[in-house]
Amino acid sequence: MRPLGVHTSIKNTLINSIEEAVQLQCTTFQIFLHSPRIWEIPEYEEQVIDEFKRLRKLHGLNPLVIHASYLINLISSKPKTIASSRYLLKREVLMADALGADYYVIHLKDNKDMDKDEIYAKTKEGFSKIGKLEKCKILIENTAKSKITSQIPDLIETLQKIESENIGGICIDTCHLFAAGYDISGEDGISKFIEEVFQSGSFGLIKLIHLNDSKAPAGSGIDRHEHIGKGHIGISGFERFLKIKELSNVPLILETPKKSPEDDLKNLNAVREILRKLES
Ligand SMILES: [Zn+2]
Ligand SMILES: [Zn+2]
Repeated sequence: MRPLGVHTSIKNTLINSIEEAVQLQCTTFQIFLHSPRIWEIPEYEEQVIDEFKRLRKLHGLNPLVIHASYLINLISSKPKTIASSRYLLKREVLMADALGADYYVIHLKDNKDMDKDEIYAKTKEGFSKIGKLEKCKILIENTAKSKITSQIPDLIETLQKIESENIGGICIDTCHLFAAGYDISGEDGISKFIEEVFQSGSFGLIKLIHLNDSKAPAGSGIDRHEHIGKGHIGISGFERFLKIKELSNVPLILETPKKSPEDDLKNLNAVREILRKLES
């Protein structure tokens, strides 16, 4: 079965995220390196990093995905925010690399006062400060509403324009895709998505899928994740999406709501059932 996991919590220690993943029988997982809504980022001790790497290897969790902080804005109109963002981006990506992460996923910000070229130039400059990484690749995620990352042709153009040795492809979030107007609950939306990815020759660039249902309707531009099968995409939508053969080996990470302790298991099991059905 293709790699499947959830976003787990680093609570008091990084190790917690692995324990959660193992308990849920995940084969991959995603974490934040610190609270994604604050600028401060801790320095992890070498001992903790070594233990994290040892446990991850022991449990065969692949790939390891780090999700960027939400604050990073490389194209802010405020120079101070740009400076803080460049610093945090570099710290996070270097730490992701030190932890042995395969991917670092980031949503790029939009700025209504800037045209695409200015956005590309500033974003590219932000990524140019990182330096050489050992293993980790940055993935750009599609978003629900943006002139540079919501529609597939725009997302691919953005990737080409900000081109950096550290960027390794894209992450497709099904909730964001749906909110951006690709109604993947039905055949038409799936075909539109496949056609656009195919036309731009980008199937190989999709390295990760964030599998989330959507609370908001198709084309709403609103990013609200829902439990698998309980939102507007629905089980039949996921059955169609997961059937796309060009993506059949791409790892799946759930970022579904966690209101009760059973939520992750329920969502994972809903996906496992679809995958079993598709494999049989
Ligand atoms: Zn996502
Ligand atoms: Zn989202």
